[in-house]
Amino acid sequence: MQCSGTVVKLDRGFPLIRTQDGGEFRCKHATAYVKGGNLRAVIGDRVVVDLPDGADMAQIIDILPRKNQFIRKDPAERAIAQVLAANFDTVIIAHPLSELNIRRLERELVLAHETGARVVVALTKSDLAEDEAQLNATLALVRDIVSDQVDVLLVSEKEPESIELVRSYIPKGSIAVLIGRSGVGKSSMVNLLAGGHVMDTTPVRESDGKGRHTTVSRAMIDVRGGGSVVDMPGVRGLGLWESADGIAAAFSDVAELAGKCRFRDCKHEKEPGCAVLEAVEAGEIPVARVESYRNLMQENEEQRKRREEAERQASRGGAPSKGRRRKR
Ligand code: GDP
Ligand code: ZN
Repeated sequence: MQCSGTVVKLDRGFPLIRTQDGGEFRCKHATAYVKGGNLRAVIGDRVVVDLPDGADMAQIIDILPRKNQFIRKDPAERAIAQVLAANFDTVIIAHPLSELNIRRLERELVLAHETGARVVVALTKSDLAEDEAQLNATLALVRDIVSDQVDVLLVSEKEPESIELVRSYIPKGSIAVLIGRSGVGKSSMVNLLAGGHVMDTTPVRESDGKGRHTTVSRAMIDVRGGGSVVDMPGVRGLGLWESADGIAAAFSDVAELAGKCRFRDCKHEKEPGCAVLEAVEAGEIPVARVESYRNLMQENEEQRKRREEAERQASRGGAPSKGRRRKR
């Protein structure tokens, strides 16, 4: 028997598939699939499964092409990508209002924009703001660094209206992915969106980057009166994989200036005719933002070189390198 479904839960390597009629069952990957490369089904993947007569477990025999995907560098590997979710409409970045980390937020924005999905920033635990002034100052700071298409929301588990606002970004039929460091309030938000206890809010132990297999599971959760949300606990390391577009979108202000530099390969360090440095000089753009941009561009470039080197090694023969995994 063959049928198709969506991966709704991923923990110990056996994806849980939900079919159109709501049935759920565990699957493993067909051997041919595993041998052929290292493509694995992730949360949100639409898959074709086969349940051979007498078999104890269904097999994934095909992963349909992805509309989009959330991808980062595998925290434990030099040249391997890790796809965390696929086929979603929105990325919600949960970031604590009173512990704003601009550098971290910029990185989250880059990876979120790289997916091509709509991006929303949720400033969580807004009830912990010292006062109205701090709240407004932080909000202004964040609005200043996000691009025009990105909405910034204030969220607190203590203020039901704020949760309703988040819910309005996840309409029926849509899928949102929730990212952010652990402890920022993601599980609390998911529970309120789901209208019941579905996630433990005890601190999640993250993969420390030493082991490839993170112990945390990812699941797609139904939002009451809305679509679905994918909570991704343990997403601490956000290494860039292939993020040129994400950087251009998250730093559209700098990227636009960079397009006016005299030299096409301008590094915006001390080159003559550098439009970026001129804007810094004129006080139009903070120097820290340009530094972030430069650092992320450099990281992306280094990652590209590692990836290409891994691909060269793989094509020279030898064991198929894991580094060959590509965006599809
Ligand atoms: P996660 O690791 O991102 O899923 O974060 P959790 O949802 O587990 O929250 C971590 C801690 O922050 C828990 O002790 C929550 O009770 C607390 N917390 C979550 N949301 C809020 C909020 O809006 N306001 C306050 N004051 N605390 C919150
Ligand atoms: Zn320049």
